[in-house]
Amino acid sequence: MAILLDGKAMAAQLMADLQGRMDALRAQGISVGLAVVLVGDDPASQVYVRNKAKACQELGIYSETIRLPQETTQQELEALIDRLNQDDRFDGILVQLPLPRHLNEAAALRRILAEKDVDGFHIENAGKLFTGQNGVVACTPKGILHMLKAANVPLSGKEAVVIGRSNIVGKPVAMLLLNENCTVTLCHSRTADLAAHTRRADILVAAVGRPRFVTADMVKPGAAVVDVGINRVDGKVVGDVDFEAVERVAGYISPVPGGVGKMTIGMLMENTIEAAERKAR
Ligand code: NDP
Repeated sequence: MAILLDGKAMAAQLMADLQGRMDALRAQGISVGLAVVLVGDDPASQVYVRNKAKACQELGIYSETIRLPQETTQQELEALIDRLNQDDRFDGILVQLPLPRHLNEAAALRRILAEKDVDGFHIENAGKLFTGQNGVVACTPKGILHMLKAANVPLSGKEAVVIGRSNIVGKPVAMLLLNENCTVTLCHSRTADLAAHTRRADILVAAVGRPRFVTADMVKPGAAVVDVGINRVDGKVVGDVDFEAVERVAGYISPVPGGVGKMTIGMLMENTIEAAERKAR
């Protein structure tokens, strides 16, 4: 049976560590703030935003959620971002994605000051990751790497296969694994013979968005399997990996729920605290 990459326990440990960093900032009279912008009424986004506010509260981070109506214009959204950029109470600004379709996501993300971009989606931060410079790293990929390292999964020289090439998960996690000296293969919907790739993987990251897409026959015995997927099936949340079957083959496996999702919020908290620490320096 595979070792569980327990996101819940790892996130609890991370939150305890972050509490120590918050205490150190407080001792210097520094407060930390996060602004979350939510446009429209997407039900999943409402849940994510609520969980982010709850994590802020737990750590004593000042947070405000600014809710804008579905019909908000690009100009109105960018004017709000400009105000938040100037507002010293906020070390971090997060625009909850997806935005309503009439809005330009890339332009909105670019508008956030790179140093306040705690999601790591700003083109400057993405560019820094791709060129090996220090910048803000996107929360989900950062959380995935944190999980692998916390479980002491060997990375250097290993074969890593990522299924999914999105800007928010697939591409950045591939870069992080490359920086750890993995040999990385990025797969996507046009990949020919996907299973031939996944079966070579010592580390397999599934960020597809299809329920139970990765089956046991696609997994190399002993591999570390990280399931990023969040899919709703009959009112239940399931991942991209067929957990029951794959846990018998894999060496390590992250569950859904209780895996990567838990780490993502922890990493957002870390990025926000890091932004405040940077400002203090
Ligand atoms: P996207 O929809 O942006 O990307 C999905 C990727 O999967 C694409 O690159 C797509 O390929 C690829 N894909 C789709 N079908 C196949 C297939 N049959 N074979 C191989 N590849 C395929 O999703 P995201 O990256 O945003 O998210 C992925 C999943 O992770 C979702 O379930 C999402 O909800 C979840 N998620 C979870 C987070 C967390 O905190 N746990 C955070 C962010 C996302 P192509 O590019 O060719 O279309």
